[in-house]
Amino acid sequence: MDRARNSSVGNKYIVLIVLAVLFAACKKDLKEEVIVVEEVEVELPPENIEFGFNLNDYVVKRDTIKRGDSFGVILERNKVGYPKIFHITEKAKDTFDIRRLQVGKPYTLLCSKDSLELPQSFIYQPNLEEFVVINFKDSIHAYKSKKPITYVEKIATGVINSSISLTLEEKGLSPRLAYKLADEIYAWTIDFRRLQKGDRFKVIYTDKYIDDSIYAGVHDIKAAYFEHNKEPFYAFEFMTDSVKEIKDYFNDEAKNLRRAFLKAPVKFSRISSRYNLKRRIAVYGYKVRAHKGTDFAAPIGTPIMATANGTVTKSERRGGNGNYVKIRHNATYETQYLHMRKRNVKVGQFVKQGDVIGWVGMTGNTGGPHVCYRFWVNGRQVDPFRQKLPEAKPISDSLKTEYLYFIQPIKQQLDDINFLEDVFEDQNQPEHLIKQNNNPISYND
Ligand SMILES: [Zn+2]
Repeated sequence: MDRARNSSVGNKYIVLIVLAVLFAACKKDLKEEVIVVEEVEVELPPENIEFGFNLNDYVVKRDTIKRGDSFGVILERNKVGYPKIFHITEKAKDTFDIRRLQVGKPYTLLCSKDSLELPQSFIYQPNLEEFVVINFKDSIHAYKSKKPITYVEKIATGVINSSISLTLEEKGLSPRLAYKLADEIYAWTIDFRRLQKGDRFKVIYTDKYIDDSIYAGVHDIKAAYFEHNKEPFYAFEFMTDSVKEIKDYFNDEAKNLRRAFLKAPVKFSRISSRYNLKRRIAVYGYKVRAHKGTDFAAPIGTPIMATANGTVTKSERRGGNGNYVKIRHNATYETQYLHMRKRNVKVGQFVKQGDVIGWVGMTGNTGGPHVCYRFWVNGRQVDPFRQKLPEAKPISDSLKTEYLYFIQPIKQQLDDINFLEDVFEDQNQPEHLIKQNNNPISYND
């Protein structure tokens, strides 16, 4: 984060002029603009614009709202008389309720650049993006606005030594990238708990910046390439419904990367007992007791998720099952979840993949906290790990051609990226790394 920040501070003036131009040209569309910082080389007069003001014209006083502060108290402390405060409050109240100042939020006073330093504008920031301006230099007026947001496209590569998080950390990249790769894009195709040494990835993503100086995190992953066990897995983000703005990830053959079923009903769990028709256990005198479920051990209270969309057919407490829920997904598939501490759904309720249907417990026959997950295909209990599970909504035939055309240049861009490890031996050169990271264009040579 600091690196990203430092690198953008160096370009601050350069970017500001780009913003100003865009702002004038297409104020409404600004949010959609992707600006590649390095491409612009323009000199700029020494201005210091923030909140739409040239801060060089004022004495700028910044502070945060303290306990006991109110708009009146702050202005009084800064030599504004009470009648005027009352007047300002009345005029501003349609735009902003000044009683809603929150402790800890930043505010800025722009004061006259003379010996009196009289406040002329009060700017309050309820969050990183929005701000409220109350002007009272001559006439009084108030308005709400947003800081300009830019999305900067970047690329990152990495080779796994132990875990993806560690690889990203070593490179000063956001852990959010790992989360998105593991939980949003490849959750159904690659088991990130079983990555191999030498597995590697390339990713094209966008970072979000507020006012060009505040890093606001990874916004989106546009495309990724993950090599697991020497096998390539491509992922391209594609909007399948522009009206509802539904985006999904598909591979280079237009196959949806999501499956209709999650791999596990709980996150961060450990399989403590697999589906096994010949299981022998001590409790039953080492006689064969088939185990037709998969046990996921997890702490009590861990949320249990529906592994696919469906309708709840059972939600009750009974015998060895304890608190359990059963879901019918379609004519073929049903799933069941046992030993819950508490259930969160009712019979007849429609649930979506990932919805929390209950919490891990120890009700019924169980030696420890876990969820016993059972999986039916056409009324027969099977091992979900041996099933070729159906993919989530496939891409429509009419969109498929468009998709394959759309990904062509992006795939080329991915393929042209070299792994940093092949380019640089020396890991201790952050300057180099940043430059490579920020500039996909010069990256390929
Ligand atoms: Zn079980």
